[in-house]
Amino acid sequence: MRVLLAEDDEALVAGLRPALERAGYAVDVAGDGVTALLAAASTDYDVIILDLGLPRKSGVDVLREWRAAQRTMPVVVLTARDTWQEKVTVLNSGADDYVCKPFHTEELLARLAAVIKRSAGKARPTGPLTRGNLSLDETTQSIRLDGGDPLALSSIEFRLLRCFMLHAGQILSQQRLIDHVYDNSTEHDSNVIEAHVTRLRRKIGREWIQTRRGQGYVFDAPPAP
Ligand code: CA
Repeated sequence: MRVLLAEDDEALVAGLRPALERAGYAVDVAGDGVTALLAAASTDYDVIILDLGLPRKSGVDVLREWRAAQRTMPVVVLTARDTWQEKVTVLNSGADDYVCKPFHTEELLARLAAVIKRSAGKARPTGPLTRGNLSLDETTQSIRLDGGDPLALSSIEFRLLRCFMLHAGQILSQQRLIDHVYDNSTEHDSNVIEAHVTRLRRKIGREWIQTRRGQGYVFDAPPAP
């Protein structure tokens, strides 16, 4: 999952960024509203965390521009003022959810996971992601097959599998997977994705992930034998 953290409070960013990375997100940071608009113009984020009080362009103005341009990525707003009028403004401007500062990181992570699942068409804000007999527990970053023992995934395997499960049955190109798994500052090349897909196949069974030559990969539950 690729997240844009649009926040100018450097102390908050310094605390939140590692927590988001531990939770399996690739994190880009924008320190003002104009930079946030530019970042989202070039990258297809899975979710955006948007501070309302941003310099250069306010969070509400940024959000209104995205929605006016039919950009539908989920946006969770961070607001410092806990008034009902502001919550109404935020929701009417197209926010999917909001968190009032100061907040617990766990609450923000839970709200992010919920809006991502809703936007992927899965109205099931709690519990593991499942497909066929495979389930992925996002809190422990481990899988179970047929209800067996949990099997731990590496950070990249977890990010890849979550992306596959949220887009089951769809062709995902290597570039799309790279965009969802790595942030802008991480060096990578497409061969790396292939290596991680190979390792993931060893853990879940290779029949789960089909290669489409020249197009990418398709993840889905294999047909019953
Ligand atoms: Ca701010």
